[in-house]
Amino acid sequence: MPCSRKYDDFKEGSVIVQKGKNPPYEVASYIPITCPHCNVVFTEIKEGDIKTTKASKCLKHIRLCPEFKGEVPPKRSTVTRPSAVVSDSDLEVKVARGWDEREELRSALRKKEDENKELREEIEAMDKRDALQKEMIAELRETCAYWRKLYESQKETIELEVKLRELRCGLK
Ligand SMILES: [Zn+2]
Repeated sequence: MPCSRKYDDFKEGSVIVQKGKNPPYEVASYIPITCPHCNVVFTEIKEGDIKTTKASKCLKHIRLCPEFKGEVPPKRSTVTRPSAVVSDSDLEVKVARGWDEREELRSALRKKEDENKELREEIEAMDKRDALQKEMIAELRETCAYWRKLYESQKETIELEVKLRELRCGLK
């Protein structure tokens, strides 16, 4: 029989009254259990089932708990086979490695995010420069058009003046 006293350090929280997790989903009192190693509430056990269920739930959790460093008792069906014990610690190593890999991946992603941010900022600056240049070109074009118009109108005035002078000279 499982001995729940073994898992005394798995803190039982205050009762939560909520809808059942299994059919017929009746409202029942549940007790949240917190793991002392990773400090996570990893399960809620029906108040009446604490004595019979807590130990197995705790055992199930420490097999997966990322912070639990102690030795995990082998699964009951494999107790007599030493190879199963090896595979259990293998699992632990695999879980630990999985966490390491995830941490590495996370930091790699963070780095990439930073690089992307720099790149994005560079592109934004380039866009801004381009937009400014386009504006300047448009302005220059406008100025050119203005000067051309001015030149045309002045040319007309000068031609008129020349004609007028010629006429005056002809009259003299
Ligand atoms: Zn844990």
